[in-house]
Amino acid sequence: MGTVLVVAEIQNGAIREASYELVAAAQGIDGAEVNGLVIGSGVGELASEFASKGAGKTYVVDDAAAENYNVDVWSKAIKAAAEASGAELILIANTPTGWDVAPRIAAGLDCAFTSDCIKAGAGDGGYNFVRRVFNGKLDAEVSTSGRTVATMQPGAIAPFEGSSDGGAEAVSADLSAGAKFVEIKVAESTGVDLTKADVIVSGGRGVGDPEKFPEIIQPLADVLGGAMGASRPVVDAGWLDHPYQVGSSGQVVAPKLYIAAGISGAIQHLVGMKASNFIVAINKDPDAPIFEVADIGVVADLFDIVPALTEAVGAAKG
Ligand SMILES: Cc1cc2nc3c(=O)[nH]c(=O)nc-3n(C[C@H](O)[C@H](O)[C@H](O)COP(=O)(O)OP(=O)(O)OC[C@H]3O[C@@H](n4cnc5c(N)ncnc54)[C@H](O)[C@@H]3O)c2cc1C
Repeated sequence: MGTVLVVAEIQNGAIREASYELVAAAQGIDGAEVNGLVIGSGVGELASEFASKGAGKTYVVDDAAAENYNVDVWSKAIKAAAEASGAELILIANTPTGWDVAPRIAAGLDCAFTSDCIKAGAGDGGYNFVRRVFNGKLDAEVSTSGRTVATMQPGAIAPFEGSSDGGAEAVSADLSAGAKFVEIKVAESTGVDLTKADVIVSGGRGVGDPEKFPEIIQPLADVLGGAMGASRPVVDAGWLDHPYQVGSSGQVVAPKLYIAAGISGAIQHLVGMKASNFIVAINKDPDAPIFEVADIGVVADLFDIVPALTEAVGAAKG
């Protein structure tokens, strides 16, 4: 099924987990030969690591011009590696970098493009993908023909954990850039760090009203000595700030106890909390997908259960 070129992203001096998820997606395509690409400055060792951990033969663009992300440099580097490898499919993570560079690569190569996929496979003269649509309520199948650029949603599949043969091979490209790197600004912390909480009580759209978070959800988190979290619609509606959001575009957490109240369990939420040690789900809908990952599932109205739990825990603590 031709060569699949997997474009690595580097963060804080290491290859991001999302890049190994791309490797897993590529390795899962029948008959595909997997190649990697690492772009940066002083990244020879990282390229060898990528090559040995699933990416196979890995092209490397190691140049001072690529020290910081620059869309022109990345576009030229990826195109050069695509030509050198003869890649039929170029996989890029659906991160802010991917959003920026992937459509340009597809336009530059005049080839098919699809984004935010959760599955990739061989197709008839191209590739087949699955994308979540309508806020995760439906899966859409997308088929492409010929050379394709696709972005894959981080967290949708497990990262590749095996090994591979193949070394790093330099690829040269004209890296002159019109765009100019200015600075990296790290967002200010708001003091909410769910990754450090042992207990998280999260509320979803089922809570229904911003005022119910301090009234119903926060008191249970408090009495358990934990923190309050939320699903994305709660944050999108402005009921809570983004640091409270759990999921693929929020925080990835693994507390000892995770209580999900009024949360349906869309894949993007699950990837952010399914590694929790013990999961309690409270939902009115017995078919809610959250119950698939729950250790205890309570089919009930959260407005009955959550205050009763708060009271019971408070009474037990004296
Ligand atoms: C690119 C992308 C990134 C995303 N990132 C994230 C992310 O990081 N985090 C995230 O959470 N989502 C994320 N999403 C959104 C995700 O697909 C879902 O839309 C979202 O998780 C749904 O939130 P919810 O479960 O709160 O709402 P809904 O899906 O609307 O579910 C509400 C649930 O509450 C239940 N309910 C209603 N009333 C009650 C009651 N009184 N008592 C008990 N249960 C009740 C309902 O039965 C229902 O199951 C992302 C989507 C995309 C496309």
